[in-house]
Amino acid sequence: MMTIDKFNFAGKKAIVRVDFNVPLDENGKITDDTRIRGALPTLKKILADGGALIIMSHMGKPKGKVNAKYSLSQVVDAVSEKLGVKVQFAPDCAKASDAAAALKPGEVLLLENLRFYGEEEGKPVGIDKEDPAYDAAKKEMKAKQKDFAKTLASYADCYVNDAFGTAHRKHASTAVIADYFDADNKMLGYLMEKEVNAIDNVLKNAKHPFTAIIGGSKVSSKLAVIKNLLDKVDNLIIGGGMGFTFIKAQGGKIGDSLHEDDLMPEALNVIAAAKEKGVNLSLSVATVAGDKFANDANRQTVDIYNIPDGWEGMDASDESLANWKEIIMQSKTILWNGPVGVFEFENFAHGTGEIAKYVAEATQKNGAYSLVGGGDSVAAVNKFGLADKVSYVSTGGGAMLEAIEGKTLPGVAAIKGE
Ligand code: AMP
Repeated sequence: MMTIDKFNFAGKKAIVRVDFNVPLDENGKITDDTRIRGALPTLKKILADGGALIIMSHMGKPKGKVNAKYSLSQVVDAVSEKLGVKVQFAPDCAKASDAAAALKPGEVLLLENLRFYGEEEGKPVGIDKEDPAYDAAKKEMKAKQKDFAKTLASYADCYVNDAFGTAHRKHASTAVIADYFDADNKMLGYLMEKEVNAIDNVLKNAKHPFTAIIGGSKVSSKLAVIKNLLDKVDNLIIGGGMGFTFIKAQGGKIGDSLHEDDLMPEALNVIAAAKEKGVNLSLSVATVAGDKFANDANRQTVDIYNIPDGWEGMDASDESLANWKEIIMQSKTILWNGPVGVFEFENFAHGTGEIAKYVAEATQKNGAYSLVGGGDSVAAVNKFGLADKVSYVSTGGGAMLEAIEGKTLPGVAAIKGE
């Protein structure tokens, strides 16, 4: 497989898929430029080699229609400033051949939002899924998606994918386009390489004991992840809102705590599978419950199997945290996804903050490899200022979850040829 370090971009035009889907305020000002900064090492390497850059991205969900609110013209100045090169803008991503052809080494062209075309996602525009004509429209759109990808590919000599956040999508710019470049002319960018290596480190090369900490609100959204991890981990800590489905399924009284009745059989399956596979499944033993879902709720610590009516479990108790700390501190590989309480409320954020500290301490003091990922746990390590104390913080929520589920990411497979 070609890698970005091996490739010499001198005299070449590179089309690079990045994730510039940055949050904007009501005046179109960027409020968090993390994603732009994340792509810089790749973009700078190409320019430093003497290549020309064609940058493409999506922004928001314009659903196949032009919508000024989602125009990438809003990021041109920020990208110019960060690259130190005046970025040119192509207002129609599918009609940029001339602008691309005119690019000289060291020049940069940013294409308008790819999702202004339904072809990018390959989804029919303006037709409901329930509509009997939907399937035919989808088939037609899939064919058009290939043409769209081919047009994008025609702008450049080589293709780089550095958009991990969309690596789990088989879109024109993330996967289909790779078919139009031979193996020596397509590669992952630095950010993608780091993400893929971090996930391989835990899923393929984990040192044991390997502990996964899975929290968050719903079992349904992480069941596939949990099942895949049962074959890999030594310890599985389940905390946060999703834990109550496991407690109720075992006959516990959970008061008004979050739970999913329809997933109780699955929760019991997980408990049985963990036993069979020798995985130490650690659930909460007690919880800090609140009498309403609000920061100023009254609080009391209660036995996890006996939560009074009118109260709901909202944070991990000291006793649960002590158990989890012991497990985490003995671990050599740690994967953390999802908060163990309603950490957005200051009064119920203690448990999640503690977990962040334990993971950081195991990494710093014991040399454990720790991977933190999934929107909210990333927000949590940032909130507690510990992002640089863990081994890797993944930028892609959905992509990371799908990778941990054991799925091959189309964006990666398209380049690796898997
Ligand atoms: P997820 O997106 O599935 O990772 O879930 C993250 C959300 O789970 C956060 O917004 C947390 O507030 C929420 N959460 C965690 N623990 C609880 C709990 N005990 N009760 C309700 N929500 C929770």
